[in-house]
Amino acid sequence: MAKVLILGGGFAGVVAAERLAKELGEEHQITLVSRSRWFVFYPALVRLAFGKCQREDVSFNLRHTMLSRRVNFIEAEVARIDPHERRVTIAHGEVEGHLLYDYLIFALGRRLATERITGFYEHAHHLLSVEAALRFGKAIGEFREGRVIIGQCPGARLPVPVYETAFALSRLLEERGERKRARITIVSPDPPGLHPDDYNVILALSRSLSAHDIEFRPDFPIEQVTAGAVTTSNGQGINFNLLMLLPPFQGSPAVSYLGITNDESYISVDSTMRVVSVDRMYAIGDCVNFSGPKMGHMAVRQAEVAATNLAAEVEGHHLFSHYVHEIRLIIDEGGSESMYVHKDIWTDEPASVRQGRFWGWAKGVQQKYWEASHS
Ligand SMILES: Cc1cc2nc3c(=O)[nH]c(=O)nc-3n(C[C@H](O)[C@H](O)[C@H](O)COP(=O)(O)OP(=O)(O)OC[C@H]3O[C@@H](n4cnc5c(N)ncnc54)[C@H](O)[C@@H]3O)c2cc1C
Repeated sequence: MAKVLILGGGFAGVVAAERLAKELGEEHQITLVSRSRWFVFYPALVRLAFGKCQREDVSFNLRHTMLSRRVNFIEAEVARIDPHERRVTIAHGEVEGHLLYDYLIFALGRRLATERITGFYEHAHHLLSVEAALRFGKAIGEFREGRVIIGQCPGARLPVPVYETAFALSRLLEERGERKRARITIVSPDPPGLHPDDYNVILALSRSLSAHDIEFRPDFPIEQVTAGAVTTSNGQGINFNLLMLLPPFQGSPAVSYLGITNDESYISVDSTMRVVSVDRMYAIGDCVNFSGPKMGHMAVRQAEVAATNLAAEVEGHHLFSHYVHEIRLIIDEGGSESMYVHKDIWTDEPASVRQGRFWGWAKGVQQKYWEASHS
């Protein structure tokens, strides 16, 4: 019997648990540990902030879901990993002390490195939790006129909700007849787009932003936020009346001291999703050291690859499933400028972009499909 431990109840951990429950015989034990029993469907948090769905539409209870798939669920905080002893230390929660494993899947996502931006917590809205999205929604409701800044801090690596927020706000203010009283600016350390040099995406996005009269300020690496202004490390500053920022991301602190991560604590894996130079350990999702944006669809595909390979390893077979690093995402503009982008990041092929009302609709359907098949 093998004891498989999965850390993290996000897209990556949930899909890995479900896949392993299908692929491994019943004699093997599968346990999922996460700090909260609630799974959050992050791609819907922009819609939650704008009142297009409710809190209960964006999360579900993992304990019920996992039980029905013969996976043990433990609500607890992971403190550290010892891959040599094959042991995970739990800081607090439903269990305390150590959990032993034969195989480990690490899927603890990213850490928000808000300490790198002075004043972030005090003065910026963000969209990295259900509560934060609802707080931002309240501020949108109260906003009437002035300057709105929406953006990414250096290292945020999540452009989609930035564009979706800007488009949704522009449309809402149009509906309220207040669009002319607001100036909307997107700020970013990078040029517009999802990946450097993607001219197709840059062109399509620039056209859509200008159709909504949304400015884009590249080369704007935010360093500090005060009650009414953002300032950058290269001496720029903008005053604001409403601010939504994605903070810098970093890998999980639970592995940062093990010598298996890069400078930002992201874990080095190969294309089978096995952690480089550590036996019986896989890492998947936002926590891994791959280039480009950090997206849920990547976490899902990595989880499928890792689970298939782990099941093969348990049965004594060679690993045969390999991950290909692709962007496949939708930016919902709320109308005919919504776009689907596909790009293979590991080749130099240009991204393909398709635009139309259909893609916004497809994103909503994608969420319903996810809920129906995983909750
Ligand atoms: C506002 C927003 C919009 C987005 N839009 C899109 C989109 O349109 N398309 C797309 O593909 N992606 C989108 N993403 C990105 C996507 O949500 C992430 O890439 C995805 O959630 C990563 O999954 P994960 O399982 O690796 O990490 P997470 O979803 O972050 O899950 C990590 C899990 O580990 C748990 N955890 C962390 N640390 C500990 C610890 N120490 N102990 C115990 N448990 C712990 C967390 O509670 C969580 O359950 C969006 C993200 C946000 C925030």
